[in-house]
Amino acid sequence: MDPKNKQTIELSVIIPIYNEEKIIPDLYRRLQESVSHITERYELIFVNDGSSDGSLSELLKLVEQDPRVRYINFSRNFGHQIAVTAGLDHCRGQAVVIIDGDLQDPPELIPEMYRKHLEGYEVVYARRAERKGESFLKKVTAKWFYRILRKLTSIDIPVDTGDFRLIDQKIVRYLRRMPEQNKFLRGQIAWLGFRQTEVLFTRDKRKYGTSGYSWSKMLQFAMDGITGFSDKPLRMVTKLGFAISLFSFCIILYAMYAHFILHRTITGWTSLIISSAFLGGVQLLSIGIIGEYISRINRNVINRPLYIIEKTNVEDTA
Ligand code: UDP
Ligand code: MG
Repeated sequence: MDPKNKQTIELSVIIPIYNEEKIIPDLYRRLQESVSHITERYELIFVNDGSSDGSLSELLKLVEQDPRVRYINFSRNFGHQIAVTAGLDHCRGQAVVIIDGDLQDPPELIPEMYRKHLEGYEVVYARRAERKGESFLKKVTAKWFYRILRKLTSIDIPVDTGDFRLIDQKIVRYLRRMPEQNKFLRGQIAWLGFRQTEVLFTRDKRKYGTSGYSWSKMLQFAMDGITGFSDKPLRMVTKLGFAISLFSFCIILYAMYAHFILHRTITGWTSLIISSAFLGGVQLLSIGIIGEYISRINRNVINRPLYIIEKTNVEDTA
């Protein structure tokens, strides 16, 4: 292809899709409506993450009627972060928007984000002023997770943001050079720095379907966020080990003193069981924390491809 004919794409929108068949027509209409206010040279990249419903055929319908719609179909479910990564690997836009496919993130916010980008910001993230229709437990755990993460990591991951954001092509290029297996994109983007700003929005509730994030997926995600950006848990284990050793040493001294000097040996099943149970717990916890880091090393050493594409209409841009 003659490179001069290849029009530059100004805006790419990446939408991960996992069992969203009912919402896709609405999603497409609202995205297209909102993005066409900005430019005619845009592309919508839908990444079907192994949906088990009719999402793929809904997407193929869009592909047929609109040349700006591009799709990537995974061979199975690889998870939300990986789906977005595949979109980032294949997008061509000068600016790139990442948005959830369940319309919890309003597409109508994209023009405002784009305006901020034109002012010179490389990252414009959408911060949730309010979250509708999410359980109390989810809100509380999310809030605490972000606050703990902030304490544990040296990088500044903004509180109350998800992956709904606009990033510059520069950021995308750097993200492609961060091939770690356990993805935590919002951390990677914060880590990269550049000029970052926010716009506020109200997070709607899901119209159809259920959240694809089970509690175990969320826990894994939280672990990836922490182990990927902080060594503090490891250092905490070391400190805990020191503290407990010191404490035990004092108890040993006292026990010997009581036995040999005072000739008063404490008959204590209770104290024995407490100390052995306590130590057992602490040891297992510490091994678990170390194990989390080893499992990261393991996955990165094996270095499998992050995702497998079954079918697509995007050419390889990575
Ligand atoms: N998603 C995905 N793969 C998954 C789970 C979710 O691609 O394994 C997509 C899903 O279709 C949606 C986005 O990721 O577009 C956010 O997921 P969800 O709404 O389930 O998460 P929540 O909003 O509950 O955090
Ligand atoms: Mg959602």
